[in-house]
Amino acid sequence: MVGSTIEIDLEALRHNFAQVRNLVGQSSSILAVVKSDAYGHGMVEVARELEVQGVEYLGVSTSSEGITLRKNGLKTPILILLGVEKDEFSEIIQHRLTPVLYRSDIASEISSAALAAKTQLPVHLKIDTGMGRLGVPYVEAAKFFELIRSLEGIRVEGLLSHFASADEHDKSFSSLQLERFRQVLTQAESAGLDFRYTHIANSAGVIDLPDSYLQLVRSGLMLYGAPPSQELHRPVSLKPVMTLKTRVLQVKEVDAGSPIGYGCTYVTTRPSRIATLPIGYDDGYDRLLSNKGVVLVRNCRAPVVGRISMCLTTVDVTEVPDVQVDDEVVLLGRQGDQEITADEIAALIGTINYEIFCNLGGNRKKQFLNSPVK
Ligand SMILES: *Cc1c(COP(=O)(O)O)cnc(C)c1O
Repeated sequence: MVGSTIEIDLEALRHNFAQVRNLVGQSSSILAVVKSDAYGHGMVEVARELEVQGVEYLGVSTSSEGITLRKNGLKTPILILLGVEKDEFSEIIQHRLTPVLYRSDIASEISSAALAAKTQLPVHLKIDTGMGRLGVPYVEAAKFFELIRSLEGIRVEGLLSHFASADEHDKSFSSLQLERFRQVLTQAESAGLDFRYTHIANSAGVIDLPDSYLQLVRSGLMLYGAPPSQELHRPVSLKPVMTLKTRVLQVKEVDAGSPIGYGCTYVTTRPSRIATLPIGYDDGYDRLLSNKGVVLVRNCRAPVVGRISMCLTTVDVTEVPDVQVDDEVVLLGRQGDQEITADEIAALIGTINYEIFCNLGGNRKKQFLNSPVK
């Protein structure tokens, strides 16, 4: 069959989850961030595996992701990180999803909707302690807490904030954010609110900032087996979960001086062997990897030559002995003792490993390896 395969190693996922558990210990719970198709790893299957492993919370961006998890039988509490809009209230309530709140209008309206449905909805309140993105600005938190306290349709379960630069070597801004968060927590408590879960740590916080664990940590990337940056202080042993493979579709011998691919951007300088692969930018294999990418074939590294097309990529296998049609080619992951990491690909095109996973995996069909015996 022509095409590529994404393999998701659930044993590696279990290993990484155990690393998070080891780091945070028994006194903090874990929220696994499975938004964006679990960073391209398959949201439902990843969530199921982590539920079996005892994860305390799941985090997604949108209520529609949360509903998909519920419809697939996930029972774990689910936090909707981007919050909710008015037209989602009834489904949020029906599917027992926990929204993040940071707007007064939405807070009031969802409280009324919950009361009308004769229920109390658990919510988490988001405070912006310096990221400048989502959340009530920390200087306005006290006013927000006053409003929240007056709303009878919601039950405040959590208070959260988000680090802007926990993955950087210099932790001074993270410390400032943590300090602001603690001050806001004190204000909330004096306004009569108390929280089962306060949380601010992402993966970088989990790895480098034990002071930030509080009652809950939110880890995404490290569960998928990659480090949030190369600047972390503490070593952590993670196993990559995603592998992307394809097969050689054609091999050809060409003379020196032969152009390869659209725009003839690569011209051979010696008699060469070119292998053509059935993968391209439509598969998330970024066109910026043209003349830059590397693949593994027969346990050797072979460079991408010429432009990446929509569905095809060409690699120079002149120095790889005996490459044949149908040989396995690894674009991300291990083959023999060789490995291509998401960090390596990201560095080639000036982005981060997070984006590589989303682009390669996102909403494509996957094979799940090492499922527990049912
Ligand atoms: C995506 C996200 C996370 C997870 O971050 P990682 O660096 O992948 O661990 C945590 N919190 C929030 C609010 C997020 O949006």
